[in-house]
Amino acid sequence: MIKPPSPANPSGSPGFVLREKCPYCSKWRHPREVMKLGTGGVRICWHCWEWHRKAMAMLAGAPPPGCQECGVTFAALMERAPDGNVGMYLHSKDGVYQILCRNCSGQYVRKRVDLYGNTLFGERNKLKGTK
Ligand SMILES: [Zn+2]
Ligand SMILES: [Zn+2]
Repeated sequence: MIKPPSPANPSGSPGFVLREKCPYCSKWRHPREVMKLGTGGVRICWHCWEWHRKAMAMLAGAPPPGCQECGVTFAALMERAPDGNVGMYLHSKDGVYQILCRNCSGQYVRKRVDLYGNTLFGERNKLKGTK
């Protein structure tokens, strides 16, 4: 007798993949890669949590690790910068930090009109009215 795969056991049913969206990087993660942050029911994936910790280390004086979005290293950014000055962009949301390079920061800001649209920063970057 063949038993049908139980719906309560995703690993037993091929093709069924459960994904949870991380509110920080907006990427779909396996639920096992997402953990609860604090007591407010905020969820964060391991990737973002790792980078949050790197950002904290950077604020404490450690060299910037690179961009968490495109994965470029700080050394590579240094090579690309003609004057040796690399701008790293620190974004924070609900107390969680994200480190982005200039490119990714620009894209991120565009995607987050909800966060920046009504600020002076958003106005300067012409984000108003794109809602
Ligand atoms: Zn994430
Ligand atoms: Zn980047």
